[in-house]
Amino acid sequence: MRRFEDKIALVTGAASGIGRATAERLAKEGAALLLCDVQEEGLAATAKQCEELGAKVATALCDVSKPDAVRAAVAACIQEHGALDVLVNVAGILSLERTEEVHLETWERILSVNLTGTFLMCQAALPYLLERGGNIVNLSSTSALGGMAYGAAYGASKGGVLALTRTLAVEYAKRGVRANAICPGSIKTPMTTRSGLPEDPDWKLLQRAMPLDEPRGPETVASVIAMIASEDGAHINGESIRVDGGTLS
Ligand code: NAP
Repeated sequence: MRRFEDKIALVTGAASGIGRATAERLAKEGAALLLCDVQEEGLAATAKQCEELGAKVATALCDVSKPDAVRAAVAACIQEHGALDVLVNVAGILSLERTEEVHLETWERILSVNLTGTFLMCQAALPYLLERGGNIVNLSSTSALGGMAYGAAYGASKGGVLALTRTLAVEYAKRGVRANAICPGSIKTPMTTRSGLPEDPDWKLLQRAMPLDEPRGPETVASVIAMIASEDGAHINGESIRVDGGTLS
């Protein structure tokens, strides 16, 4: 399938995990790419891989919580590729702590990357997405749909991402721009393998977030992102799709 031939996609969080798998999937399907992340080395590795898959690729080191950096990344996309059709907001951070132990700085940082960063990217990209009838895919999480113990700030940020996504869907539908969210469950990526846990956690609570079938990797999420961002998803707008192996069923 080459559903992104002549399309230009901007992917944040592209140095690792779901962002990298998404970049590779879109590259395989013909997209030209602007890839963003804060991790220079990982970003270069993803870019190289996508180029080997035949994609035209540019990169921008960009902290999505910083408005100037976000504007510069979108400008780099327009300068390099001339347009923007698909924005995939994947950059995110996770911290797992008992709620009574969460420091205000941690709460604010998680909200600022996961929610404000998504908003800033959408805001900067919208003028270009409107020009070509593009679409947005935002990474939310099952923690926005069902309680996830030890993830107060993370769950709140992802709930905000869902609300933001639905707002954009309604506000821009008539002007030809769609916005959708993906809600992965627990996916095997560097984020989940390095996320610490509070001391002596309640394992029964953690078990609630596990898939019912088997642990899966980031490509299981990338394939759904590609579907919804392509013409196959043309009539899907304001939706959130769980990719969780049945966890919340
Ligand atoms: P990951 O492997 O940690 O990849 C996320 C990438 O985003 C990392 O390279 C990370 O850099 C980067 N990043 C962090 N803060 C950033 C910032 N301010 N600006 C730009 N880039 C930044 O994580 P993942 O598992 O692929 O997760 C990707 C997205 O899916 C996240 O939004 C996450 O919340 C969501 N999600 C993941 C799961 C899961 O189970 N993996 C489940 C539900 C939702 P650093 O390494 O420096 O942080």
